[in-house]
Amino acid sequence: MTTTYVPTAYVPTTNNGSEHIVLHGATLIDGNGGDPVRNAEIEIKDGRIVYVGAKRAEGATSAPGENPRLVDLGGKTVMPGFIDSHVHFGLSIENQEANLARFGSERIVRSAVNARNTLMAGVTTVRDLGGTDRGVRDSIQQGLFLGPRIHLAITPLSPTGGHTDFTMPNGMSTMPAMPIDPIIDTDDDVRRTIRTLVRSGADVIKVCTTGGVSSPSDTPDDIGVPEEHVRLIVAETAKRSGQPVAAHAQGAEGIKAAIRGGVRSVEHGYGIDDEGIDLMLEHGTFLVPTLSSALRVPDPKNVPGYLYEKKVKWSAIARERVAVAMEAGVRVALGTDAGVCPHGVNLREEVHAVELGFSPMQAIVAGTKNAAELLRLDAEVGTLEEGKLADLVVVDFDPLADIKPLAEPDNVKAVLQGGSLVKDSEGWFGVTPVRSALG
Ligand SMILES: [Zn+2]
Repeated sequence: MTTTYVPTAYVPTTNNGSEHIVLHGATLIDGNGGDPVRNAEIEIKDGRIVYVGAKRAEGATSAPGENPRLVDLGGKTVMPGFIDSHVHFGLSIENQEANLARFGSERIVRSAVNARNTLMAGVTTVRDLGGTDRGVRDSIQQGLFLGPRIHLAITPLSPTGGHTDFTMPNGMSTMPAMPIDPIIDTDDDVRRTIRTLVRSGADVIKVCTTGGVSSPSDTPDDIGVPEEHVRLIVAETAKRSGQPVAAHAQGAEGIKAAIRGGVRSVEHGYGIDDEGIDLMLEHGTFLVPTLSSALRVPDPKNVPGYLYEKKVKWSAIARERVAVAMEAGVRVALGTDAGVCPHGVNLREEVHAVELGFSPMQAIVAGTKNAAELLRLDAEVGTLEEGKLADLVVVDFDPLADIKPLAEPDNVKAVLQGGSLVKDSEGWFGVTPVRSALG
């Protein structure tokens, strides 16, 4: 009965009128995990890839009679535009006090800056799992500012006192209000909230089946949204477009409740046990391990004591258990949880995945192809193949030999999104990158 939700892979309108070009000379890593192609050729027309592979005969193009412009990328490496499966453009909990003092307007401006910096780091598509409304997504689509195309959860859901209830014991909140009330305690709350989210343009539903590290009154071992409510949400979205469900789940029991309830992805998964790993393999559930956040212990000066203590403990658990899940062959899609960790350095996540045991190629696939599959955008993005949107990044090092330089956004020299050049810090493409209404 479940229909498949196929969201559009929209191209921001800033990127209309992309050029007919042929990139040649680069080493191609196409995102499928196979051997790289040296001296490759990629032809791009109307924003899409019309040829990709080995160098063709001199002057060959997919459209006889046309003369695409040649761009020499000899010595460089081309990869798919990366996908960050877990960001919060509207969030910054690095300094909670400063965050709370901000005006709503400042938050929107900061969301725009975060989106732009994320794109410039080489990320052409994201899933925003809470705190961002549809206006930000649509403003990027309309070309008002540059950013990745976004899939939105709008508001992550939990019960009273759960992970998205930021009410302190005295009734004050430690966080700005979410766009839609995040609290679901009863079946009726679940139905009404899911219908409101769908009405508001949610591409994905995010639930918290456990407590968390950043919330004041619960822990990752606490159960949040119970399995029966996860199942109810999956049933409710199946009546609409079958929007996938993503579960914030950190402790072992809540992880298993999420998988059994039918989620498409487990976010974090820090304390996953062997039974949980088997369940993920059986159900084909994705794991988004958010290592950029998990492995980062914040400055104790900037965060409340409860948060610092929980972070130290769960960081060590994640380092051990996520590595076991990765080794076991769970489907991993990378996502940072930027907002809980800094924005605009998203490809640190690929480096962390290698730290925990992935090969550089596995990390690249997890940050491109697998993430596209998680978002159900794999017909359009995630790999460099004929017919797909021309989302790609260009670097001048070999990430398979050493992936670490990818973590530094300045090392991502050029970015194309839907065939249009949005970054070219070395002038390799010979034209000026596109601009948004904001410049
Ligand atoms: Zn998150």
